Amino acid sequence: MNIIYLLKTCEINLKGENKSIFEKQLFANIRKQLDGIKVKISGRKGRFFLTPVDDIDEETRKKIEKTLSSAFGLTGYSIARIVEKNIDDISKTVIDVVSRQFANYVVPSGSVAPHGSVAPSGSTAPHSNAAPSDGAASSDSAARDAASVPFPRTNCDSPVAARDAASVPQSFKISSRRSDKSFKYSSYELSCLLGKLVIDNFKTLKVNLKNPDFKINVEIRDKAVVYSQIYKSPGGLPSGIAGKGILLLSGGIDSPVAGYMMAKRGCAIDALHFETYPYTSEQSKEKVIEIAKKIKTYLPKMKLYIIHFTEIQVHIKQNCKQEEITLFSRAAMMRIAHLLAEKTGANSIITGESLSQVASQTAENIRFTGSHTTYPLLRPLIGMDKQEIITKAKEIGTYEISILPYPDCCSVFAPPHPILKPQFEKVTAAFKTIDLDTFIENAFAKIAILKI
Ligand code: ATP
Ligand code: MG
Repeated sequence: MNIIYLLKTCEINLKGENKSIFEKQLFANIRKQLDGIKVKISGRKGRFFLTPVDDIDEETRKKIEKTLSSAFGLTGYSIARIVEKNIDDISKTVIDVVSRQFANYVVPSGSVAPHGSVAPSGSTAPHSNAAPSDGAASSDSAARDAASVPFPRTNCDSPVAARDAASVPQSFKISSRRSDKSFKYSSYELSCLLGKLVIDNFKTLKVNLKNPDFKINVEIRDKAVVYSQIYKSPGGLPSGIAGKGILLLSGGIDSPVAGYMMAKRGCAIDALHFETYPYTSEQSKEKVIEIAKKIKTYLPKMKLYIIHFTEIQVHIKQNCKQEEITLFSRAAMMRIAHLLAEKTGANSIITGESLSQVASQTAENIRFTGSHTTYPLLRPLIGMDKQEIITKAKEIGTYEISILPYPDCCSVFAPPHPILKPQFEKVTAAFKTIDLDTFIENAFAKIAILKI
């Protein structure tokens, strides 16, 4: 059976005359992330069709679905079956898709079982709870490792996923569209015909046009397209449309979330990490690489730059007041981030700072750190509390890596009582006396680049 993917965009549709620029970027990102899998993308007005050019095996299918589940700019996608434009084939497919709607639910004892008498042989029994709910999905596909899809499968069109997983769907709606006007039935007639067919075969189901438990969509195009489930994608805007940001990536919880959030607003990302080996361990660097790989799953491309920061850090420690160590380290990091932005054509710098989270993130300290670059500093977490950031980190899959117990330079070199409200002019003058120019030049000349 042929399948295609229906793609849904949302915010892009508000872009007026520039819309096609955003769409082009989205499709280029998807193709890049598909890494050689050939697909045709067609459609308009926020509804697009992605058609694999060749027959696809299970692995290719997983790769396509993982890509669509994580592409910024898409709000969701469906897996649609393509069948011949005749009422028999369409009916069979609709029945099969409906019977699979029951597959995710355990029928409570004593309740009436739906009658899936027309379901094609080989289709899953309505009472099983192991099979896919999507008509087009094979059992293998649906049983795929949930971790391979960053976002949970949900049916955005109906609240079915939000309901008690143990409750059997009771209502449905058939929604038909006919772009081929020569087709024998109008959209309305087709919906009525198929609706009756479903009721005849699934005695427990009722039509509910306003708030159905699930919806079956039938589109009559050059072939008939049938789909139900809508899987969630992250939304936002396609990566790269906002230029590139240099993400200051530590091994902590915050900065990966900051990178994700700016990527969602269309930033391409290159990450920059400062390591202080041997004061920090090799594992601490490995951890950052793993975090970067996780962020990369949402992006068509990303590099990780690593700066050996030890000499700078030690020099700062030996030449300033203890209370200024963290603040001056941050300033040095910012100067290097600025150089990297210049070198790589980035247009912003991204950090995981959150107001008042730690001493280095008071307004006064942020002012000082920020004064070492003229690029816009994007701090998407500035108004979020730690719990909100943790929830997001769990959602994007970086949390478990971030909490591995390998400290980075900030904690290793942190003074017991860091300065909270520095006087801007005073610390600016003190920082100048440290004279970091040669140290920064040397470290920058030896920057390491990892392709993630
Ligand atoms: P995170 O904020 O990512 O949880 P953290 O709590 O160790 O890490 P903070 O003290 O909150 O770090 O640092 C504020 C921000 O400074 C980080 O979010 C990050 O953007 C940047 N930063 C700190 N340490 C490093 C580092 N070693 N390499 C790159 N950027 C860093
Ligand atoms: Mg932090």
